Amino acid sequence: MSRPICAQINLAALRHNLNQVRDLAPNSKIWAVIKANGYGHGVGRVANQLASADGFAVASVDEALILRQKGFIHRILLLEGVFSADEINLVEQHRLEMVVHSPHQVNWLLKADIQTPIKVWVKLDTGMHRLGFSPQDFEQIMIKLQSVQPRISLHVMSHFASASESAEFTAKQLAVFEQMTQNLDYPRSFANSAAVQHLTQAHFEWVRPGIMLYGAGILNKWQTQFRAVLTFRTKLISLKWIEPDEAVGYGQTWQAERRSLIGVAAAGYGDGYPRHAPSGTPVLVNGERAQIVGRVSMDMITIDLTDFADTVKIGDPVILWGDGLSVDEIADSAGTIGYELLCGITQRVPIVEVNSEVQ
Ligand SMILES: *Cc1c(COP(=O)(O)O)cnc(C)c1O
Repeated sequence: MSRPICAQINLAALRHNLNQVRDLAPNSKIWAVIKANGYGHGVGRVANQLASADGFAVASVDEALILRQKGFIHRILLLEGVFSADEINLVEQHRLEMVVHSPHQVNWLLKADIQTPIKVWVKLDTGMHRLGFSPQDFEQIMIKLQSVQPRISLHVMSHFASASESAEFTAKQLAVFEQMTQNLDYPRSFANSAAVQHLTQAHFEWVRPGIMLYGAGILNKWQTQFRAVLTFRTKLISLKWIEPDEAVGYGQTWQAERRSLIGVAAAGYGDGYPRHAPSGTPVLVNGERAQIVGRVSMDMITIDLTDFADTVKIGDPVILWGDGLSVDEIADSAGTIGYELLCGITQRVPIVEVNSEVQ
């Protein structure tokens, strides 16, 4: 038997989750956000399943050209726009759409020799203070860009800073956006996954869901409607009893209080399991919740299986996250977010595709 770890990707779950987004935002078009190699799931694989989306959103021309090379003829949005003036040629040539977030990008556009009109998404900074024009600068920028119509066609967008955390700040951002754009007759886009789920007023013409398509970042009330796409699986490769007061793993950070059965599963930070996951982080062994104990190693984790001593055996299946155990819960335990864990599964982990309508 080879090393028993794999990332199982349920293709049907991707299609299902996209349909759920349609139900939540029935009056909006959908940019399926598939940057960072489809949040680690493989961009071609994900795009195939999400082909009924109205377009794909990615981080760069490079990511967009991978999709074009694979034959996708969808609308494609560059969320950070272009990184140099000459990329505008590629945008035109490959029919991409670009965010414009800064004055230098506006200047590149004004100087560009554009034959076929380019769809431009002007980003308004409504309070995130990362990319985008401040409300003070926005009108001037729009006037400049309007001067090069119809070589470009205008759209407006913004991004939430804490759509899943602060209802108050989110409402403020939405108010700024509405105030600045209500008299403009351009298509608008604001909502990420969190806002798709709980802020209907922010849906506008285009929503931009990412994480929810992969079945993560789901609010409690929608939990049963979405399915985890990726299930990170491995198996038990060792079982041994230790005595009270004996410690487990590097640094001896966990000590047995009772005689304990310690299972070893073949997964570690070399596979993308977070090293910062502390003792107590849940895993599923034979579908039952157990807890990891001691430090995460490069290739292994150690699990307290004392309560399952009667049934557990070598080769039993272990789920690190996915089906039955949300990646968000593991992320929370490890002090990070599901996005980082999904993007962080490493090259050595084989991917296994399944296509299961039930989960
Ligand atoms: C990544 C990204 C999204 C998607 O965010 P999720 O939280 O994954 O839904 C939407 N808009 C922009 C600008 C992004 O960078």
